[in-house]
Amino acid sequence: MGVNIALDGPSGAGKSTIAKMLSEKMGYIYVNTGELYRAIALYMIRAGVDIQNDGQVEENLPHVEVGIEYSDGLQHVILCGEDVTSQLHTPEVSMGASRVSAIPAVRSFLLDMQREFAKKYDTVMDGRDIGTVVLPDCDVKIFLTASAEERANRRFKELQEAGDSSTYEQVLADINQRDYNDTHREIAPLKKADDAVEIDTTNYDLQQSVMIISDTVKKVLEEKQSKQESKTPRIRDTIDFSDVRPVTDPKKVNPIRLFFFGIVRRIIYIIYKIKFKMVYEGLENLPKTGSNIIASNHRSYRDPVFAALRLHVPCSFMAKEELFKGNVLFAWLIRFLGAFPVARGSGDMTVIKEAVARLEMGRNLVIYPEGTRSKDGKLGRGKTGVALIASLAQVPVVPMAISFKGEKLRFREKVIISFGKPIQPEELKLTSSDIRELKAIREKIMNSIAVMVDENVNKL
Ligand code: C5P
Repeated sequence: MGVNIALDGPSGAGKSTIAKMLSEKMGYIYVNTGELYRAIALYMIRAGVDIQNDGQVEENLPHVEVGIEYSDGLQHVILCGEDVTSQLHTPEVSMGASRVSAIPAVRSFLLDMQREFAKKYDTVMDGRDIGTVVLPDCDVKIFLTASAEERANRRFKELQEAGDSSTYEQVLADINQRDYNDTHREIAPLKKADDAVEIDTTNYDLQQSVMIISDTVKKVLEEKQSKQESKTPRIRDTIDFSDVRPVTDPKKVNPIRLFFFGIVRRIIYIIYKIKFKMVYEGLENLPKTGSNIIASNHRSYRDPVFAALRLHVPCSFMAKEELFKGNVLFAWLIRFLGAFPVARGSGDMTVIKEAVARLEMGRNLVIYPEGTRSKDGKLGRGKTGVALIASLAQVPVVPMAISFKGEKLRFREKVIISFGKPIQPEELKLTSSDIRELKAIREKIMNSIAVMVDENVNKL
């Protein structure tokens, strides 16, 4: 579900102009639901349907194909393949929309479409029943009003500018009629949702209205977020890490293992050098000794190899549990190479303890905080596990970025492998059990990977 802001209110309260400006400001898409009802009215008028006759309108509904497209950030309504946006605001279509919108079949015809949009995108959706019927659980509900006279005044000016000859009295009568229709219809009448914030714009100009509304939206979203965060369990409430000690005196890696690691990594390095155009950057950032976390973006199953080829000390890495349950030989091989199993989404403490134990053994630990492979090279959000391990183990975190074009790395393709400056343990300390601190550590790690991923894009 996207983040959705409902902007309901009577005709002419300035919803569409304000919703458009607000959506631009927030980077959301603007869904003008009134135009959907208008498109249906236009269809019926063109088809010569008597719109006072519910049965006739309902009969003709299956022929209506209505959709929304966006170009230059503006909503375009497509009716049976034709862009009809410019024909939707005539007085005839306005009154027709007000009429057809009272027909239950018309409302249910448009309901799924509106909900689909809200599911897929972050939206500012304006209408009459968005907060009450279409999206009763949306994030922010604003009910926008202004006196009928002021609304008529604004509409009258707009119509005059467009060359329409309606008088002020006619416009006011029209608005009063549509208000009556909207508030008195049986299905989804216009009314303020109990949890909506009402804003009366009679005495405000457009800029002032947008400012007040965007401030309100910001405040409601912030309040919601802090409520949610306070509901999020504190780290200590969910897991017990009291017996995990920081890595202060790691064991030395067995010299025989170190020797073989050196040989194997040189052989594989030559093979990889033939297969791919590998460009390593920031090798000076790799510590000579072990017990570091290498936190990398995740592009392919070769990622641990790209790291291991340049590390001075063998590394361990987490691999999904399923890999250990299939072929016995394969399971043995990856275990030998330093993999250990992690059950996805378990967030369980055994994995964290195992990770810290591996660091104690003097090995490096390669982690992919995104948890899953990125197909397009864009960096995902990252899980807090990496922050938890780093803060408990108190070892440096070396950010790493692997970049190549496309989804799969092909033969002789260029791949850039960068290592960033290690983040030192002092910067990875938790001072309380507040989950927000853990998230901040995660952000620090993810940001340092993101910088390199971004830089690499231009070098590919
Ligand atoms: O918002 P606008 O004035 O363009 O809407 C046209 C008509 O569509 C309104 O008069 C109203 O009756 C109807 N409508 C509705 N429910 C919505 C949006 C508009 O009934 N969500």
